[in-house]
Amino acid sequence: MADLTRGARRGLLIILSSPSGAGKSSLARALREWDPTIRFSVSATTRAPRTGEQDGREYHFVSHEDFEAMVARGEMLEHARVFGNLYGTPRAPVEAAMAAGQDTLFDIDWQGGQQIKESALGHDVVSLFILPPSIEALETRLRARGQDSEEVIRARMEKSLAEISHWAEYDHVLVNDDLATCAEQVKTIVAAERLRRGRQPWLRDFVRALGEEKEERA
Ligand code: GDP
Ligand code: ADP
Ligand code: 5GP
Repeated sequence: MADLTRGARRGLLIILSSPSGAGKSSLARALREWDPTIRFSVSATTRAPRTGEQDGREYHFVSHEDFEAMVARGEMLEHARVFGNLYGTPRAPVEAAMAAGQDTLFDIDWQGGQQIKESALGHDVVSLFILPPSIEALETRLRARGQDSEEVIRARMEKSLAEISHWAEYDHVLVNDDLATCAEQVKTIVAAERLRRGRQPWLRDFVRALGEEKEERA
């Protein structure tokens, strides 16, 4: 009897970017509720924690000096300055997840997305860009979140069009009008990307085994 075992697929690197307030964090939460095996990449940042944010959960909150030391030691997969603060993706947890065939979700800006796509891990990336239904809705959401000062909201609104200008560099572009609908779209994309031929290296052996089985039955 031919061996018809199905092997593991390669881990996916799922990159979510958008202007601030378009709904990345909300969509990331929905995706992980759907599939808790998806690991969230906890970035390091020099920005101050918001109310309710926990060190090591949303971010590793670090000093400027510590951040620069991590970069100097080569511990960051990518890093960038966003809205006047430094943000970076610690490399080790991503490499460990990839080795284990586990998917990782990144909530990072376009500079980070670009660096990861250009890295050795680039062929395992699927990138999603989230657009707000309108600029007015974006501002309303930033205010509704109730976490940022007026000055921070204004600065983020000012940068929104610059962030949006990178939409065409992404594999998939979604408009987050109704959150539940958009979350379904994100799940559909992840489900389809997992089935890509190149992400299932076991297929070659599987199809050969199907052929052997057919011969055995003949
Ligand atoms: P600002 O006025 O606080 O925005 O200051 P700067 O833009 O001049 O940067 C402050 C410090 O951060 C300087 O020491 C820069 O060299 C450093 N810096 C800026 N961007 C980066 C970055 O992407 N990575 C690292 N490691 N350092 C950065
Ligand atoms: P980001 O992580 O991109 O900055 P968030 O996920 O924090 O954005 O969303 C910003 C605010 O908008 C939050 O208060 C969130 O609850 C709200 N929000 C997200 N998506 C929608 C949506 N489709 N409709 C209405 N409000 C939304
Ligand atoms: P916030 O301060 O609202 O949590 O994030 C601000 C911006 O920084 C968002 O666009 C977010 O995607 C981005 N960001 C968060 N972590 C990282 C990271 O590790 N690398 C990069 N390049 N951007 C990040």
